[in-house]
Amino acid sequence: MAKGHINIPIFIPHEGCPNRCVFCNQHRISGKSSFDGGSLEAEREAVRKEISEVLATVSEGQEAEVAFFGGSFTGIGRERMCGLLDVAQEFVDGGRVDAIRLSTRPDYIDREILSLLAGYRVKTVELGIQSMEDRVLLAAGRGHTAADSERACRMVCEAGFSLVGQMMTGLPLSEPEDEKRTAEKICAMGASAARIYPTVVFPDTGLDAMARSGDYRPPTLEEAVARTAGALEAFADAGIPVLRIGLHSSESLTTPGSISFGAYHPAMGELVEGELYRRKIEAALKERLGTIRTGTVTVYLPTGELSKGIGQNGRNREWLLRSFSPARLLFRESPALEKYRVAVEIS
Ligand code: SF4
Repeated sequence: MAKGHINIPIFIPHEGCPNRCVFCNQHRISGKSSFDGGSLEAEREAVRKEISEVLATVSEGQEAEVAFFGGSFTGIGRERMCGLLDVAQEFVDGGRVDAIRLSTRPDYIDREILSLLAGYRVKTVELGIQSMEDRVLLAAGRGHTAADSERACRMVCEAGFSLVGQMMTGLPLSEPEDEKRTAEKICAMGASAARIYPTVVFPDTGLDAMARSGDYRPPTLEEAVARTAGALEAFADAGIPVLRIGLHSSESLTTPGSISFGAYHPAMGELVEGELYRRKIEAALKERLGTIRTGTVTVYLPTGELSKGIGQNGRNREWLLRSFSPARLLFRESPALEKYRVAVEIS
C-alpha cells in the first residue's frame, strides 16, 4: 500500500503568453524561472535533474506525481510541451513516478490536446477557472468566459481525467457571493478537488496600476480570510477537498517589495480553515445561547484539527470567551466528526 503522496512541482513559465491577466506576474508567483533563455534540450535536461533530485528524497512506497505548474502548460507550444511530457513519462516508465498532473487555462483545452495528454500517464488536469462570473473574468483580463470553463471541465471529465478547479477570491468586481457560487459551480462541473488563491497584488501588473489609481481596492487580510472561508465552506459542504489555500510561501514572496498590496500571509490556509471552524462553532452555539454563561462549553473538533479549531494564536478561543463568556471552555477531539464539522456540549 502507498505511504502518502508527493507532487514534484515543475514550474514552467509561459514566456510570450498572449494573455494579460491583471494579477499575473508569473516569475514571482512560481518563485523561479530556471529555464529562461535556454534551448528546449537544456530545459528538458534541467527538468530531468529536478525530478531526480526530488525522487532521491522520496521514501519507498510513497506515490510520486510530476506536476507541471505555472499556469498554461497546454499553451506553451506543442514541441516544448511534448518534450517535457516525454521527460516525465521516462520516470513513469522506469517505475519511479506514478502519474503526471498539469495546470492550464480552460481555453487551452480541446479534444486534440486531451487525446495527446492521454498518450502519457497524465492523471489530473487542473484548470485556472478563477471565477464563474463573466464580468469578473473581463475585469481580470482573463480572456476567456465562464462558458469556456464549463466546456473545458466537461471535456476533461469526459476524457477520463481527474479535474481540479483553481479559483481566486478578491478579484476586481468580485463579491463574496460570486466566490461562493464559483466554488459551487466548480463542484457541479465535476471537480474532484480544488485550490483557492486569495488575490495578491504584485508590482508591475495591471492590478498594481488599478490599485494605485483607486480603481481597485485590495481586500484586507481579514476580508480575504472571510471571503476565502466562504468559498472553502462551499467545497466542504460538497465534500470536495481543497488541496491548497493561498500561494506557496517562497523567498521571492517574502522579500521586501515583492508584493505591492493585498492579503498575502504565509499561513493563509491555517487562517482560513480556522475561520471556517469559528463559523461552525458560532452556528452550533447560537442554538444554545441561553445556557452558555453559567455552564462549561466543550467544543468537539475532528481528530487532528484541534489547533485549526482553536485558531491561530488561539484567536477562536479568545473570540469565544469574548462573545459568549462561558464559565469554562474546553476543546476536545472527536473521531466521530468529519473535517470541518463541530459539535458543542454545554454542561
Ligand atoms: S496568468 Fe494569465 S497572463 Fe499570466 S501566464 Fe497565465 S494566462 Fe498568461
